[in-house]
Amino acid sequence: MQRKLIIIACLFMLPALVFGQRKKKKAKHKTKAVAEATVTRSSNSFRVVPLGVLGGIDESNLSAYMVAPTGSDNYVCLDAGTLHAGIEKAIKEKAFEGRSEKILQQNIKGYCISHGHLDHLAGLIINSPEDSAKNIYGLPSTLETLKKHYFSWESWANFADDGEKPALKKYHYAPLQPGTEVDMANTEMQVTAYPLAHSNLTSTAFLVRSKDNYLLYLGDTGADEIEKSQNLHKLWEAVAPLVAEGKLKAIMIEVSFPSDQPDKTLFGHLTPRLLMNEMGVLAQLAGTTLKGLNVVITHMKPPYRTITKIKTQLNYANRNLQMNLIYPRQGQVLEF
Ligand SMILES: [Zn+2]
Ligand SMILES: [Zn+2]
Repeated sequence: MQRKLIIIACLFMLPALVFGQRKKKKAKHKTKAVAEATVTRSSNSFRVVPLGVLGGIDESNLSAYMVAPTGSDNYVCLDAGTLHAGIEKAIKEKAFEGRSEKILQQNIKGYCISHGHLDHLAGLIINSPEDSAKNIYGLPSTLETLKKHYFSWESWANFADDGEKPALKKYHYAPLQPGTEVDMANTEMQVTAYPLAHSNLTSTAFLVRSKDNYLLYLGDTGADEIEKSQNLHKLWEAVAPLVAEGKLKAIMIEVSFPSDQPDKTLFGHLTPRLLMNEMGVLAQLAGTTLKGLNVVITHMKPPYRTITKIKTQLNYANRNLQMNLIYPRQGQVLEF
């Protein structure tokens, strides 16, 4: 009697078991199909790993952005305010695997330094003893500051290949002429520099190219109206055709202060109001809407309540242009 019961129970269970297994298999197939679809759909051109995103105070999180073509391990680092702490954070966030020394030495193939302020190059100086040989790209005036004031044997040992002797020749100074594109060694990318007005000195915008895709990174900059300059206007003229053709995948631009910061204490920086004015000029020159354009907001200055204020003002001011505003976080990958 008992045996009969067991057999009947088994007969009832069998279809349930088989069906369950089938269902599981189906589910597995489904996940795979979804994953494949995502891969095919994404047409990302650049992978950006922010090593530092703030405009001051926190020395473990200052302007530095690694960028490579999607699928490549050959990065260039746009500014180098924070390196080691940023790479460690990026490893924690699973942006990279392995040891931070290896990322520094093998994955960063060169630096593009926008200007000589410490918050854009402190990481490069401090990490130089551990670093490998590579190029430092910049306008001649920026490289001159590095030569004279940092790799000078007075501030630090001269790890570069020019300037105060003896030159240890780990880094090669690669001067950029405004508007002239050059290949970046050991990467699949090219760069063109454009000068920016930043209070008493010249800063730089780097237009990075990978095949037919572009990414524009601006170092610190004031607005043309405040700086009595044409530099941003000229930059917008240069990139307007790329915006019109959809080839400019992202603009990375600073907003350091809230809109109520008095003009005389801007020190060559932008506010939400000034950024939107400039983006309006770009839209006009491109003859197209900037709706959905990726705009990464860099260099916001602490304290955090000020940063919150800047974000609120930006989000509100963006209701007309409807750009895709992105607030980068240290170590968290961005893909464009
Ligand atoms: Zn600066
Ligand atoms: Zn700065």
